This record gives sequence, C-alpha cells and structure tokens, in this order.
Amino acid sequence: MSASTATRRPIDPDLFVGGDAEAALRGARCPSCGTVTFPYQRGCPRCGEEAMTDLELPREGTLWSYTVQSFAPKSPFVCVEPFEPFGVGYVVLGDVIVESRLTVADADALRIDIPMRLTTIVNHVDEDGIEIVTFAFAPSSEEQR
Ligand SMILES: [Zn+2]
Repeated sequence: MSASTATRRPIDPDLFVGGDAEAALRGARCPSCGTVTFPYQRGCPRCGEEAMTDLELPREGTLWSYTVQSFAPKSPFVCVEPFEPFGVGYVVLGDVIVESRLTVADADALRIDIPMRLTTIVNHVDEDGIEIVTFAFAPSSEEQR
C-alpha cells in the first residue's frame, strides 16, 4: 500500500473492514448483550459495555424503506456538482438496519423487501484529485442487466 499513488480512499477509515473499500462494512457487536451497531462504535449504546467486537456485516440484505432525495442536502454534506437526485434507503443486514445511499434514483425501480447488494460510489473528488468513496446499495437484480 502506497499512499502517494492512492487515487481513492474511504470517506471514513472506520467504515469498511480493514479500511478497504472493496471489503464489507464494519460494524460492532456487544459481547454482553448482543447489540449490533453500524457504524462501528467503541461502546455499547444499550448496556454500556466498553469492549465491542468487530463485526463484518453481510454484503447482501433487503430493502426495508427508501426515498428519493431530489434536492441537494445542506452543508456540511459534500456531494458531486451538479446535484443529481439519488435514492436513500434502509437496508436490513442481519441484525442491524443500515441507512445508505442507493445506486437507483428511480422510485419505480425500488420496492420494499427486494434484495440489495453492497457496492461503493464516489462521494466527491477532493482537492488532490483523490476519489473519496462511500458505500451504497444496489438492487441485486440490477447486476444482471
Ligand atoms: Zn451491550
């Protein structure tokens, strides 16, 4: 790994397992009460346990709820200009529900309970030309087109 030749990096180093955007999302499980959190947390929000266990979240889940964001979010959220509408959804990944960008901005292409697959999208390009990557979910059926 050479930082000087990197052309892309995760928007948050704790977002993916091992800091690698090709990997799964990094969550945490409480060894005392079993609570699962995403993003990763150092402490349990339910029982106060301070030694959370790293958890690699499933790469596939189901869509629990969604909407289409048709106007630019307020600062400090950084997004690519010009603004284009995008989907936002809640995806059930095992024991946790994750809020995520969706690759689909067409509400007609989305339905509750359809299978979704983890992918990555470029959130924005920073001043050094590095692509800042975040996670998103795509309908599993989209890959077959
Ligand atoms: Zn706990």
